[in-house]
Amino acid sequence: MQHLAPLLSLLQALTTDLDYDRFLQAVASAASELTESEAASLLEYDEASGQLRFVAAPWFHWDALQDVEVPLENSVAGWVCQNKMPRVIQNMEDENPPYYHMADKITDFKTHSLLAVPILLRGHVVGVLEALNKTERAHYTEEDTSILEILASLAALTLHARALEKRAQQVYDAQAQLNAMKSDFVAIASHELRTPLGLILGHATFLREVADEEYSEQLEAIVRSAGRLKEIVENLSNVDTIESGGARLHNTRFFVSDLVEEVVDSFRGEAEKKNIAFYVDIGDKTLSLEGDMGKINIALGNLIRNAVTFTPEGGHVGITAEAIPGYVKISVIDDGIGIPAKDLPYIFERFYQVESHLTRRHGGMGLGLAVAKAMIEMHGGRIWAESREGKGSIFTFILPSDTATSPNVFIS
Ligand code: ADP
Repeated sequence: MQHLAPLLSLLQALTTDLDYDRFLQAVASAASELTESEAASLLEYDEASGQLRFVAAPWFHWDALQDVEVPLENSVAGWVCQNKMPRVIQNMEDENPPYYHMADKITDFKTHSLLAVPILLRGHVVGVLEALNKTERAHYTEEDTSILEILASLAALTLHARALEKRAQQVYDAQAQLNAMKSDFVAIASHELRTPLGLILGHATFLREVADEEYSEQLEAIVRSAGRLKEIVENLSNVDTIESGGARLHNTRFFVSDLVEEVVDSFRGEAEKKNIAFYVDIGDKTLSLEGDMGKINIALGNLIRNAVTFTPEGGHVGITAEAIPGYVKISVIDDGIGIPAKDLPYIFERFYQVESHLTRRHGGMGLGLAVAKAMIEMHGGRIWAESREGKGSIFTFILPSDTATSPNVFIS
């Protein structure tokens, strides 16, 4: 019974104080107190180096011990680790076991007796808990072993949680580094490509006007491809300005029908080539919005471009707009290839593309929807997609009808 109180307060510490290192120190202190030992320490097994490392020790030894590595061979802790069994040495001088003397030497401590138990997690050894020098040269008892084993199981859970936290932090750091690299790449690529591309497009367009008929097909191909590249660079550059917080809204009030006509017109040629029919349904021609028309144009343009791209010959693409309470709702509907359910949650992420033979042939960089989302959310709006593979897709966004009430959220 006399042992229950310290164990209980240790358990309470585990649930109230989530500082793992402090808790492991408390386990070591409880180990020395409850077994009436001069000192106790806790070592963690490091799989990478195959050695044991101190994670808790008496405070007056801690500075000296925190960097000490204990080998598995020729040490009592190593023996316990390898054999997954407790080990008691009642008299060091008499028994003279293979022992790692370095720790004693560094801390100027003389070990006379020792009790060590493995710290086990699902049958694997993750460390060793040891108590040193039972007071008055008494012998360690079976009860002492049981106490250390209880404490070791508390330490096992804590070491596990600590390792998981460390791992999660490493993954998070790697992810952040990757994201930073992606952003740098986007910024550099869009900046460096813009000028030479502008020159190619300008000169090729000029040549197409003045060159002989026999070269027109080739020049047309150059202009078309350079135009496609320009769109990609613009998407990259849009992502960059939004991410770096450089994007600002230049709001005006405009008619939704003007916006839709303008965007649809820019895709008519492409749609005609694929024999795709456009239909536009805006019930109320006086429906208006206040916002940055250029940015909403880009968002709608990216949706319509995808609809035309992913709809086979002879398909249909529709644009509808209507007022709903507090918002204007615009949808782009197609009866194209659709999006598999497993990909749907991710399509608005930067660089995400659906991997299938039908979509891979189209190229692209997986930025169009990320840009559209950012542009809509900058206005305090929302965008989403519904789709069925093989049937078609509906992309919808809503924008606040009155910007005075919209939060103007920036989301990267
Ligand atoms: P990209 O610029 O490469 O087309 P997007 O971000 O615009 O990238 O789109 C991401 C992916 O979502 C596309 O690669 C495509 O697989 C899928 N997708 C987008 N719109 C449609 C659509 N209307 N129909 C079918 N798939 C679509």
